[in-house]
Amino acid sequence: MGLIVQKFGGSSVADAARVRNVASIIIDTYKQGNDVIAVVSAQGDTTDDLIEKAAELNPKASKREMDSLLSAGEQMSSALLAMAIEAEGYPVVSLLGWQAGFRTDNVYGSARIKTVQPERLKNEIGKGNIVIVAGFQGLNGFDDITTLGRGGSDTSAVAIAASLHADRCQIFTDVEGVYTADPRKVEGTKKLSEITYDEMLELATLGAQVLNNRSVEMAKKYNVEVEVLSSLKRVPGTIVKEVAKMEKMLIRGVTKDADVARISVIGVPNTPGIAFKLFSKLAAKNINVDIILQSVGRDDTKDITFTVAKANGELAVETIKGAFDLTDVVCDTNVAKVSVVGAGMETHPGTASKMFEALYEKDINIQMISTSEIKISVLIDLADADKAVAAVHNAFFPVD
Ligand code: ASP
Ligand code: MG
Repeated sequence: MGLIVQKFGGSSVADAARVRNVASIIIDTYKQGNDVIAVVSAQGDTTDDLIEKAAELNPKASKREMDSLLSAGEQMSSALLAMAIEAEGYPVVSLLGWQAGFRTDNVYGSARIKTVQPERLKNEIGKGNIVIVAGFQGLNGFDDITTLGRGGSDTSAVAIAASLHADRCQIFTDVEGVYTADPRKVEGTKKLSEITYDEMLELATLGAQVLNNRSVEMAKKYNVEVEVLSSLKRVPGTIVKEVAKMEKMLIRGVTKDADVARISVIGVPNTPGIAFKLFSKLAAKNINVDIILQSVGRDDTKDITFTVAKANGELAVETIKGAFDLTDVVCDTNVAKVSVVGAGMETHPGTASKMFEALYEKDINIQMISTSEIKISVLIDLADADKAVAAVHNAFFPVD
């Protein structure tokens, strides 16, 4: 018995039957004697549909109005879920982000939560109510509605769990937990029973779409244990926590990120300060740079190659051309990043060679490599990406 925060994603509440299913999970938890706060996302593709509606009228709509529009998706699903619970005869109240005490900064479209003022939540729980909270939204310093960025409801749930020191934070989704690779695409994947915050953060950032990365950052900061589990099958999921069991695994997972562009800057002067100048220009445009490679200088020039998110590719090229008076700056979007992640590699040598061998056996060329203590990433041809993930996964988790 205790306070349990549960979050249900868009696919878990996509239609009336799914909403009823979620209502029954919440009611079961409540009947076991727990206080329950459930955070909900917009139903199915509602958020995408709303974005399309906006584009029909104004493709350049202000972010303020977009937030006002998009928050409506969660307003609908939270009220509908409350109605389904009401229909079963249980005491329930739905709250919008601002009513649940979410205060954010002023960055429309990707606001960060500053605080969750918990009085109203506590008050409703005190009355014996099940509380349903519209995820993904809050109120900023101008009393305007803000949204937290795509997939932001996960963060709403973790923020409530942190602020109210919940006993458990469960993120329900349409998969059974966190896997060693995308189970829909790779054979022989395994569900992890536990994973650390740092590993999960790498996986989330690298495109494993189970948890939003800001939610993992927040869980780590406030030490909230998060369980990722299925809303459709009642089986244990994956626990995300500070220290996780190793289960004799060298790595936790293999991921693919196709949202990459490779920028090559050819023939920059081989003098001090060039890298500083180049990357500070990109930073000034808010362009995040990932893997960086610099060639050995020759004939007083050198080449610098780096990767950015696809959406920033053209802007990066323009920025550099403008700043350096260079013509040979190319952007290649036919690339993908494949990574292995796992704290185990810190203490076990040979992870990199095992990964590279698997790629070599499939005749896949590596364009760039980057490593951290718990991650090795390679940049390869986009066309090779799925084959690469399968081969690398099979090297670490052989299908028997
Ligand atoms: N409905 C929002 C989205 O689709 C927020 C979320 O699902 O967490 O991005
Ligand atoms: Mg959604």
